[in-house]
Amino acid sequence: MSVQLNGIAASAGIAISKAFRLETPDLTVVKKTVENVEEELQVFDSALEKSKSELEVIKEKTKNDLGEDHAEIFSAHLLVLSDPELVDTIRQKVKDDKVNSSFALKEVSDTFITMFENMDNEYMKERAADIRDVSQRLLAHILGKPIVSLAELNEEVILIADDLTPSDTAQLNKDFVKAFVTDIGGRTSHSAIMARSMEIPAVVGTKSVTKSGEQGMQVIVDGLEGNVIIDPTEEELAEYRQKLADYEEKKKEWAKLVHEPSKSKDGQLVELVANIGTPNDLEGVINNGAEGVGLYRTEFLYMGRDELPTEEEQYEAYKKVVQNLDGKPVVIRTLDIGGDKELPYLDLPKEMNPFLGFRAIRLCLEKDDMFRTQLRALLRASVFGNLKIMFPMIATLDEFRQAKAILEEEKKKLQEDGKDVSDSIEIGIMVEIPSTAVMAPQFAKEVDFFSIGTNDLIQYTLAADRMNEQVSYLYQPYNPAILRLVKMVIDASHAEGKWTGMCGEMAGDELAIPLLLGLGLDEFSMSATSVLPARSQISQMTKSEAKEVAEKALLLNTADEVKELVEKSFL
Ligand code: PEP
Ligand code: MG
Repeated sequence: MSVQLNGIAASAGIAISKAFRLETPDLTVVKKTVENVEEELQVFDSALEKSKSELEVIKEKTKNDLGEDHAEIFSAHLLVLSDPELVDTIRQKVKDDKVNSSFALKEVSDTFITMFENMDNEYMKERAADIRDVSQRLLAHILGKPIVSLAELNEEVILIADDLTPSDTAQLNKDFVKAFVTDIGGRTSHSAIMARSMEIPAVVGTKSVTKSGEQGMQVIVDGLEGNVIIDPTEEELAEYRQKLADYEEKKKEWAKLVHEPSKSKDGQLVELVANIGTPNDLEGVINNGAEGVGLYRTEFLYMGRDELPTEEEQYEAYKKVVQNLDGKPVVIRTLDIGGDKELPYLDLPKEMNPFLGFRAIRLCLEKDDMFRTQLRALLRASVFGNLKIMFPMIATLDEFRQAKAILEEEKKKLQEDGKDVSDSIEIGIMVEIPSTAVMAPQFAKEVDFFSIGTNDLIQYTLAADRMNEQVSYLYQPYNPAILRLVKMVIDASHAEGKWTGMCGEMAGDELAIPLLLGLGLDEFSMSATSVLPARSQISQMTKSEAKEVAEKALLLNTADEVKELVEKSFL
């Protein structure tokens, strides 16, 4: 009998493949005194052999499947495991201190990692990452809890995990990972957002997929409805193969709109642009006919690595995006780290409420060297197209003024150094904190544009953690409170001749689109894959009827009433 699960439809599409369970074993090390040193050394040697032969297999497979280049990393790992400086030092420590080998390994490898991390040479710094990786593998074998890594995947699978961090997601190889399903998470958790830009179907927040899905079992993932079927029957397989074919057919219809403008039935033009996480997402932006980029989340450039990206690296990434968009608008957001996006190498203290903590612009204003490096890279890239700079998590006018002043200082310095910087860069802010939405009329006098970040604005307005499926019933985009805040922001910008976009997930939501059109939103920024369905939807309604419905919605009492009204009027 098949098992049916329901979760949150996080990324559209349907996939049928076999399950691959991603386990994150507990590798906590406890110091112990060992009586029998010889026995402990045997445990260590056998773990060492297992790690080596595992790496040999992975290296060969990688070489065959992906080529010599990709296999090099595993040769480096094998070298580390043969290095007497590391291995003999661990053995000696077990002998001298009579401690367990896992503890000796941790102590010795941590010393090496710190030493390499503090070297000036880039190559040596990278070795720290190799040592960290290899030590984890070795430690897992000593503790009898072998780890499987995403990078080792080399066949088509559906990934099943308790949770995926944004950096796990960044490593996913689309050729092999056909979909993913998690126990926890919400539609606006960053793994879900990334799945959409990578066009990998995903269902999150199923609560129990890791309990039902065994390694290798066949799984159906329906990222359109949020359904997951484990070990499906023949009838279920036939049903979903048909559903997949129908979805492909629909995509062909939408594809006809790829070069069309985004226009309502009565001729109102809006901008439909895309959210991206890395320059690799550009292909999706162009293929899906987006009219620009409304949000480039630069934090992914800082993740999955051991140190801050340099100005040059950032400059290259920003330049690539701006250049490829060939004069179309590109809104680049400055670093928004914090919340569910961590940067372990910044060594920030653990917080009780990371979404309300030391993050985004707060962190950048404090660590201003890091901020200035990013701003310089952005300013230099501005000459290659139509770049706009946006600050995240602005809560007060003071923060905006400080950030802008730093930007102006860096601009002046660059110009004094003879570097070219565009003179027409628009500077805007994300409106994702209620205080800023309420103060929008004051902000509108100083900023060039607003982009409403509903992912956070909803969680802060209703005090419901966007990552917590337990309170997801309170995460209500259609709540009249949210619609009223959105209206305040749009009206405030228009009163000053400025524009308002929206880059939260609500902008691509079929039920929200008529309301947003009716409220006068100028720019809708969404996952690239939502652009064509949104264009098709907007072409089938008039701005005037959307306005009428939006005005009614603002006066309703509950999110459900709003939903009902939109469904009755448009769907
Ligand atoms: C938002 O909060 O709506 C937003 C777009 O930013 P992020 O999802 O990266 O927090
Ligand atoms: Mg946000």
